[in-house]
Amino acid sequence: MDLTSSAYPNSASTGAELLSDNSSNAAEVIACPGCDQLHSITTAPAGTKANCSRCHSFLYRQVPNSISRCLALYIAAAALLLMANLCSFITLEAGGTTVDSVMLTGAFSLFERDLGLLGLVVIATSVAFPAIVIVGMLWLLWPASLGKRPWFMGPVFRLVQALIPWSMIGVFMLGTLLAAVKLQGLAAVAPGLAVVAVMVLMVVMAAAKVNFEPQALWSVSGVEPLTAADIQPGEILVSCHSCDLLHKDIDTHSHSGCRRCGAALHRRKTNSLQRTWALMAAASVLLLPANIYPIMTASKLGKGEPDTILSGVQGLIASGYWGLALIVLFASLVVPIMKLIMLAYLMVSVRRQSSWRPRDRTKIYHLTELVGAWSMIDIYLVALLTGLVQLGVLANVTAHVGAVFFCGVVVLTMLAAHSFDPRLIWDNTDHDNGANSADRALAIT
Ligand SMILES: [Zn+2]
Ligand SMILES: [Zn+2]
Repeated sequence: MDLTSSAYPNSASTGAELLSDNSSNAAEVIACPGCDQLHSITTAPAGTKANCSRCHSFLYRQVPNSISRCLALYIAAAALLLMANLCSFITLEAGGTTVDSVMLTGAFSLFERDLGLLGLVVIATSVAFPAIVIVGMLWLLWPASLGKRPWFMGPVFRLVQALIPWSMIGVFMLGTLLAAVKLQGLAAVAPGLAVVAVMVLMVVMAAAKVNFEPQALWSVSGVEPLTAADIQPGEILVSCHSCDLLHKDIDTHSHSGCRRCGAALHRRKTNSLQRTWALMAAASVLLLPANIYPIMTASKLGKGEPDTILSGVQGLIASGYWGLALIVLFASLVVPIMKLIMLAYLMVSVRRQSSWRPRDRTKIYHLTELVGAWSMIDIYLVALLTGLVQLGVLANVTAHVGAVFFCGVVVLTMLAAHSFDPRLIWDNTDHDNGANSADRALAIT
């Protein structure tokens, strides 16, 4: 069930309005991460989620027993990740030769071929970051389930928050599927127990993400959030960009950071537009060599041509794998280019102080954040095949420098999307949804 927060009494109000209503005075107030509209957190039916009534960004979810559910899921995830790395991943057999591999064989083989940077990105996003997220969440959830405040709660929470977008188990799984299809003509493929573990891990991680309710975790922090009663009409407030705790503006001058998680406080992401433009410019420059240089050569009995991203797609079509060809084309070409165009449009609209359809522009932004990681699929494919297909003259796969350029494009466009601040879209739309500059408690810089 999907509810907008306006379905709750007084939950989509400005600070001034909240004060005039005594019934919501004890409720915690948060600012929407998408547009800075103030909302008071209200109890809603279990399983529902609240979206901002102004920009429709996700606000919070009502999950009964969120802490114990997530604890169980992350314990399962830890066991699965261990299994995925220790068990046999894929076994290849051709001409009497058998090659056995584990999950990271491909990434390590990239180091031997002087593509260590690529290997490092693969290891980080497929194993290291998911491992840190899982251990970090267990670190937070275990004491919280006993009603105790975890040690280093703020720094651990911020680390986990920062790494979640870079943990790409699902994309890795799709890359594995693609690799299995590509291998069909080269050798006999037998998936091992680790493939099953990665598949289940993908589902468990998704379930853990959906069941996590940060408010439940913060209830053991001992830090009291601001309620409607604490806020004066027209007062300037600042929301922590990491844990969403609302602060009175005066706190930002103390340089002590967020009083709950310790993150630096700022009204808008620092130099958001300049950073995003710089990252996008770098990504656009790399886009050309990423598509001109080959990303890998797959050879059978000594024969094989180097493949660029586009010729790889053509190869899939020629073999009759239309569906996979479309996925690769979409993930590797359409997504990065569309992302750059959409971000450029958003930034031009912010610079021109456009007030045109801010809610749709916020949706476009969330879309660019959501799809970015899926472009990594070709990188995982190259890494997996390079590690797996080492059968001498029978069959061989070599990675090329095009893959490094492409990996750079994916990482830079993801960083660009993260550095853009969607609140900038709303800074010139005060008249929207009845929230005008007089009664909006969040001031704009
Ligand atoms: Zn909003
Ligand atoms: Zn914080």
